[in-house]
Amino acid sequence: MTEKIDIASMLEEELADYLVSIGEKKFRASQIFSWLSKGTPISEMTNLSKDLRVKLEALTLDTLPKVELKLTSKIDGTVKYLFRLHDGEYIESVFMRYKHGNTICISSQVGCRMGCKFCASTIGGKVRDLLPGEMLGQVIAAEKDMGERISNIVMMGIGEPLDNYDNVIKFLKLVNAEGGLNIGYRHISLSTSGVVPNILRLAEEELPITLSISLHAAKDEVRDAIMPINRKWNISALLSACREYYQKTSRRISFEYTLISGKNDSVAEARALGELLKSSFRGSGAPLHVNLIRVNEVEETGFKEGSERDVQAFADTLSAMGIVATVRRRLGSDVNASCGQLRRKESKKSEE
Ligand code: SAH
Repeated sequence: MTEKIDIASMLEEELADYLVSIGEKKFRASQIFSWLSKGTPISEMTNLSKDLRVKLEALTLDTLPKVELKLTSKIDGTVKYLFRLHDGEYIESVFMRYKHGNTICISSQVGCRMGCKFCASTIGGKVRDLLPGEMLGQVIAAEKDMGERISNIVMMGIGEPLDNYDNVIKFLKLVNAEGGLNIGYRHISLSTSGVVPNILRLAEEELPITLSISLHAAKDEVRDAIMPINRKWNISALLSACREYYQKTSRRISFEYTLISGKNDSVAEARALGELLKSSFRGSGAPLHVNLIRVNEVEETGFKEGSERDVQAFADTLSAMGIVATVRRRLGSDVNASCGQLRRKESKKSEE
């Protein structure tokens, strides 16, 4: 049997070429592309002939993630999805309602190989990369399930997007495509643990997305201990890549800083972080923005969150240095909304 084709990862023009290659009319591409972006199964694509539907079903792979579990927060309405993929793997996505529109946090890989010590997604390592259509499919499946439009995307779920570079770039083009979801690049954020060469590649792509950097420490000793990637590309290499990214793209970079009690959350560390960012971006004109996140306590990591006073003191120290510091509101705390925890539970079940 020949391998089934993943049409959900094709741009409209690629779909047109594919259709021609199987003896079909090119104009069908826009119809199919539009159906796919609504999550419609081929059998329900009513403006295609029955014969074409049967033919396409036989030739193509259905990569749309299927809702395995859906948890809705009673506190803030945040929805956590556990999706099952076509090969039986699981990933998570989180749907959040903000004043500026519905936002989805999507996964980029099944598992992760970065090894950050505080993170649940990396505990079992990386299983595989997600296909472009599987990243897009999380947005489509959530829109379909919720019956609401999603206007913003954050790539902060399971996986390291810059460790799945080509598929992520393709996904960005797919989600931005006019005949599809047509979500503007400015409404998309990509978060990375700091894969330096790919930050530099991304700067050349001319995709005006927002880059978020998971910094989490101001000193190499501290970052080395919690993020193994720092031993490959240290803080200075990372921040010089960020400076170059800003100079090329003029796009604001946001720095993520997860506060872990007793590890990286002292006022002295806030000061060191402020100094580090100011000196790294001096003269560049880059606005400096730090997003402070209370660590989500994950059973296996043993890391604890600090007190409200510690968090506030950290934020105030940065603000006093002229750096915009926001403490991220915690959404969906009753539905395991921090990514990796649900998938972890699901795979533990199957180990038992
Ligand atoms: N691999 C990418 C994107 C996925 S992680 C990255 O590292 O940026 C998304 C964000 O959640 C990162 O900032 C990550 O450091 C953070 N994170 C992971 N586990 C966490 C936890 N237990 N508590 C708080 N933040 C966490």
